[in-house]
Amino acid sequence: MTKPRPPLSKELQLRVFRRDKWVCRWCNRPVIFAPVMRLIESKVRNAGRVEPLSYYHTHWTRDGAPLLDELGAVIDHIEAHSTGGSSEEPNLATACCRCNVRKSAASMHEWAKRPQRKPIKGKYGEPQHWDGLSALFVVLAKRDRSGLTASEKDWLRVLAGATADAR
Ligand SMILES: [Zn+2]
Repeated sequence: MTKPRPPLSKELQLRVFRRDKWVCRWCNRPVIFAPVMRLIESKVRNAGRVEPLSYYHTHWTRDGAPLLDELGAVIDHIEAHSTGGSSEEPNLATACCRCNVRKSAASMHEWAKRPQRKPIKGKYGEPQHWDGLSALFVVLAKRDRSGLTASEKDWLRVLAGATADAR
């Protein structure tokens, strides 16, 4: 068992996601800001969809949310917290859910020896403007604030910045 670590602030998480251009440090895949998937799913439901949808699931399960199971954005400790890695920005990296699960608490040394998820390499350059769909989150969240969870309201505040209309 690893000891629980204090949650990282949303401000810090967003700085890391933006610094890394919303791309997984380990496999180079574009990652997705998970809360947007819940809002998209609820919009589709509100539009009358009754059959099951697999856009969002709290635990990012493969059957409940296959996209997040693969590409959900998480913050990874480069040197694991359980082996003494800090929670300061230089030790944090953007990761996809898959790489995060595979890395788990491995030290960088152990991790480097393991077979990796094959990194994506773009033929025409790396994405410069991908944002994990976080701008879509802001648009959808502002449309219906009453339906937001406390955590989503906090994300909206952080993502939209300290502008007056984000309140
Ligand atoms: Zn990855």
